[in-house]
Amino acid sequence: MKLAARVAKVPGSMTLAIDSKAKALRKAGVDVCSFSAGEPDFDTPDHIKAAAKQALDEGKTRYGPAAGELGLRTTIANTLNRDHGLSYQPENIIVTNGGKHSLFNLMLVLIEAGDEVIIPSPYWLSYPEMVKLADGTPVIVPTRVENNYKITPAELEQAITDRTKLFVLNSPSNPTGFVYTPEEIRALAKVIVDRDILVVADEIYHKILYDGAEHLSIASVNPETYQRTIISSGFAKAYSMTGWRIGYLAGDAEIIKAAIKIQGHSTSNVCTFAQFGAIAALESSQDCVEEMRQAFAKRREVIHAGLNNIPGLICPKPDGAFYMFPNIEQTGMTSLEFADALLEAEKVAVIPGLAFGTDTCIRLSYATDLATIEEGIKRIDRFVRSRLG
Ligand code: GLU
Repeated sequence: MKLAARVAKVPGSMTLAIDSKAKALRKAGVDVCSFSAGEPDFDTPDHIKAAAKQALDEGKTRYGPAAGELGLRTTIANTLNRDHGLSYQPENIIVTNGGKHSLFNLMLVLIEAGDEVIIPSPYWLSYPEMVKLADGTPVIVPTRVENNYKITPAELEQAITDRTKLFVLNSPSNPTGFVYTPEEIRALAKVIVDRDILVVADEIYHKILYDGAEHLSIASVNPETYQRTIISSGFAKAYSMTGWRIGYLAGDAEIIKAAIKIQGHSTSNVCTFAQFGAIAALESSQDCVEEMRQAFAKRREVIHAGLNNIPGLICPKPDGAFYMFPNIEQTGMTSLEFADALLEAEKVAVIPGLAFGTDTCIRLSYATDLATIEEGIKRIDRFVRSRLG
């Protein structure tokens, strides 16, 4: 059978592959410590589940608008306006099957052959593949650990060509966990406006911040960036709703209309009753988000100290999301070798940095319980010591 050439252009998702492998091993009775997928270990808060159950009981089981329930689009717009001082209307919002689907829709709407998309590296592994699937060209710009893996305005400026259509800005970042300061966002905004390019702001981790880190949405810097920004976000990380698959895009009404058109021929609406859970998530108390953030904050201290106590690992301390991205170069292994051997020898699942464009590092998600973190650190320590000899 001859498959379409686009299939060969992209590898499978390594985060999903390693996560399923770890879950399958655990199901088979193997004692695995998994730091693989960025998936909070908490159950979805009860009031959110109750709202979805009520919607189900009330017969919210039919097709809905491809763009999403008007009530959800309205509450997303209101929340963004309140949190970031923006002025979105429901027509500026589309509800999608998760943040990943938002970004995929956006690439299909904006990108075609010849278009370049600037992606700072380390990057979340699906960005370049989505660009390729849309026939565009990902332009990977390596960043430096000295800058906490953040692209500088000069680096951005240098990467822009006549073909640049879009810049992918992910803060807090997956996989590094670092957060751009408001000053850094303003400086990047100036380049974006001066060079007249679009920016997709992937803000899915924006509620998960530590040590006083502040999130400034690039959309809110000034009216020019508001016009040029498309926000991509979702409910998975902040509300522990990974399996619900609810995300959204917010931006220029023409772009959103185009995404609705594509969604109308691909997925149609996101699961109708699930959207009522999402409305409850935004409209109810945000205490659950803060409780989970505080739990992540404790785990962050433990995993960061633990990793830095392991000889040969160097781990900066990120100020957002729930990832650590230590450098493993001193072990003499590539990130793939490290991850494979660690899973084999100690049953600890991590993601090789290679998946994120950086072979000198590995990624650990610490959205898991403290006992797993403590045990995992012990095993990684034993593994690295045995390799260092
Ligand atoms: N976004 C999460 C991660 O990076 C979930 C897996 C995925 O979508 O790639 O681990």
